Amino acid sequence: MVENTASSAEVPRKQRPPVFISSPLAALVEGIYRADTTIGRIRQKGNFGIGTFNDLDGEMVFLDGTVYCLRPQGDAEVIGDDVRTPFALVTQFEGDTQEHFDKPVAEADFEDALLDLIPSTNLMYAFKIEGRFSYVRARSVPKQNNYLPLAEIAQLQTVFEFHDVAGVIVGFYTPDFLSGVHMVGLHLHFITADRKHGGHLLGAAPDDVTVSLQHAPSIELGLPMTLDFLTMERTRDMEADLNKVER
Ligand SMILES: [Zn+2]
Repeated sequence: MVENTASSAEVPRKQRPPVFISSPLAALVEGIYRADTTIGRIRQKGNFGIGTFNDLDGEMVFLDGTVYCLRPQGDAEVIGDDVRTPFALVTQFEGDTQEHFDKPVAEADFEDALLDLIPSTNLMYAFKIEGRFSYVRARSVPKQNNYLPLAEIAQLQTVFEFHDVAGVIVGFYTPDFLSGVHMVGLHLHFITADRKHGGHLLGAAPDDVTVSLQHAPSIELGLPMTLDFLTMERTRDMEADLNKVER
């Protein structure tokens, strides 16, 4: 018999897949809205994620293997494998833990309620929040010409509201030491249960939802081999710009 010499303090844990990040978000902030990464490649990296499309042509929700584009008016469309993305985060999602919020949570308290579920702020986590919401506020952006800085697009976004709606929030928590790679903290997108509407989440008040959480033991970062990316010079204050457009 082989004796098990592993430390008894180690809790056996199912090995989770990495989070694939197709490009550093810093490139998007500089106005680089085109890359060669196809949705087909994104779908090879998992079944779950968020992002955008070349020329910022809508917000991405990747859920149960299907990639949706949320258009500027909030309508959803299923996207094929040949479309390209300048930025996406993807993982294979099953969920490590589930928490049921069976009482209404105010919009002002929702982010803190989610952050309370994170065991360590030094890992990346995927969040899937499914159920009924009394209120959801989301946005999308119209298609852009290349190189207009992301911060200037804040004025062009369209914001829409949902009341008493069933749906799913998909997204990630990112630790602060990855600030050039993705937004620090929570970045969440929303799609309705009928998969017809949604956008980048600006606020939500859940009535009755299940929050599934999955940690990422590692990340895989794509570095685009495009001329735009190879010659990019960083001129923007990423944190300040993201506060204008993503919060
Ligand atoms: Zn977003």
